[in-house]
Amino acid sequence: MPTHSLTDPLFSAPEPETPLSVLKRVYGYPAFRGRQAEVVSHVVSGGDAVVLFPTGAGKSLCFQVPALCRPGVGVVVSPLIALMRDQVQALKGLGVRAAALNSTLSREEYVEIRRALDRGALDFLYVTPERTVTPGFREMMQGVEIALFAIDEAHCVSQWGHDFRPEYRELGKLTDLYPGVPRMALTATADPHTREDIIERLGLHDAEVFTTSFDRPNIAYEIVERDQPRQQLLRFLSRHKGSSGIVYCLSRAKVEEIATWLDDQGIRALPYHAGMDRALRDANQDAFLKEEELCLVATVAFGMGIDKPNVRYVAHLDLPGSVEAYYQETGRAGRDGLPSDVWMAYGMADVIQRGRMIDEGQAADEIKRVERAKLNALLAICETPGCRRQAILKHFGERHAGGCGNCDTCLKPVETWDGLEAAIKALAAIYRTGERFGTGHLIDVLVGTENDKTTRFGHCDMPVFGAGKDLPSKTWQSVFRQLLAAGYIRVDHTAFGALKLEETARDVFKREVEVRFRKDRPTSGKAARGQSSRSAQAKAGLDQADQELFEALRARRMELAREQAVPPYVVFPDTTLIALATERPMDEDEMLGISGIGQSKLERYGDAFLEVITAYSR
Ligand code: ADP
Ligand code: ZN
Repeated sequence: MPTHSLTDPLFSAPEPETPLSVLKRVYGYPAFRGRQAEVVSHVVSGGDAVVLFPTGAGKSLCFQVPALCRPGVGVVVSPLIALMRDQVQALKGLGVRAAALNSTLSREEYVEIRRALDRGALDFLYVTPERTVTPGFREMMQGVEIALFAIDEAHCVSQWGHDFRPEYRELGKLTDLYPGVPRMALTATADPHTREDIIERLGLHDAEVFTTSFDRPNIAYEIVERDQPRQQLLRFLSRHKGSSGIVYCLSRAKVEEIATWLDDQGIRALPYHAGMDRALRDANQDAFLKEEELCLVATVAFGMGIDKPNVRYVAHLDLPGSVEAYYQETGRAGRDGLPSDVWMAYGMADVIQRGRMIDEGQAADEIKRVERAKLNALLAICETPGCRRQAILKHFGERHAGGCGNCDTCLKPVETWDGLEAAIKALAAIYRTGERFGTGHLIDVLVGTENDKTTRFGHCDMPVFGAGKDLPSKTWQSVFRQLLAAGYIRVDHTAFGALKLEETARDVFKREVEVRFRKDRPTSGKAARGQSSRSAQAKAGLDQADQELFEALRARRMELAREQAVPPYVVFPDTTLIALATERPMDEDEMLGISGIGQSKLERYGDAFLEVITAYSR
């Protein structure tokens, strides 16, 4: 609030609201979740905070509620303009006064924002990181009271992360530019390097750090060996009729191909990648936010800050570069806490390709080494015969007892076999042929395929030639992957993907270690999980009658969303529709008792939804 309003005779300070009353009135939620309440009270009383919660944990409320409780405008630093627009829209939907500053504003819009700031009539102002530290912005905020600075997607400050943005570095200046204003950094990125960077670069040494478990219990993990990727993908998607999700591919060309192919298969799909025409790309993103049954096929250019809460699945047709990237990308599923599936198909070719990308990249040697290690860590998760969730969380330094019951290896335990003899043969094949060949040729040698190459190099005459006849080529593929995952061998990209032995291979030759391999599953089978096509709503426990009402409410929501040109979840999230369908409130009072219905939403939509419920309950 501008200081001059304090001398205005008409001005009378309203009672400051408590965090809980804001939560109920504005958001319609009965209680804070997890550590939200702690963060909120710490910041309301003026403290700085670093908030490291996984996606879907509710980070937005952590800065929104304190900003609404404190006098002045909350300044939110956000990396993408599209993102700001969505958040401003969602806040307005809640009856909160929000605006975003960006270069597309007209002169009039800009002037209007300045006026609102001067009158203290704005609760939130979204800005890009580069603008936040400009003299122009400082001049604009002169005399304007600032409730707090919230730095969203704070991992962008770190070059260890996957979304590094140099402009974020400048935000370290905020302390000096705006002394005394609480600062918060928020991210869903878990790795320690990034955390340290955030604290260091943003000068948040005195901030309280809030973390929670990074587990996402509502996400079901499945990782399969790639066999016929398109058919495998189709089978996975067939379990998700009626919902929206993302399919990640490595290259732009593949994105286009897969999107077209899916469309031909009768699955509504749109492409998204950085090489597309900007307007088309934005239109496809918008369609993804607004439609309820759409498969967005994308490169990793898509996804940061996408707030769509009901992304029901995420599929990877190519291996991501690290566990961090995998977790971030899969984490876009199930923000609303409802059951969601993530699936990945991978093969040896991915490992080679990813490795080559690292080796041929511009990064310094030290960073390349880190990246190779990160890739291997992901490969190890792909090849684990144990619980995926346990393996993933362990990577982030978190202990999980395993047996989560919600990943492919838990639902359908993989068998393992004693692989010592096979490992020795595979390593011998590498060694005897001079550590100069890739898997294809090595397998030919092992199973004894006489061809040009095996003859030309004289490999047909070696004792190891045909020594692995007892196992099919496919099994040898898997053996090499697992030897790689276990660190006994590595891929040398400077030598065209030749496999080389690591020091530890010696222990295998000497039979000093136990080697167990996972048995690959037959790939022709159906989904790993018995639930097949059950929808999230069904899994959330809706019976037949509730399900029908849910569909009617969903249709009404779509109409309302279309009228206002906003995504349906801006009207209400699925969780609220589910609560409406099961609890069937009959009047406004009962409506307010539904999670996600606050004062403003009640006024806007109460009647429309009551009408639907009444019609169904007669
Ligand atoms: P994050 O930014 O951490 O990924 P969001 O802030 O988008 O998560 O929150 C995820 C979802 O959970 C949103 O739909 C949000 O409205 C909802 N949510 C957050 N906090 C609460 C709460 N205390 N009670 C009920 N729902 C909540
Ligand atoms: Zn598990």
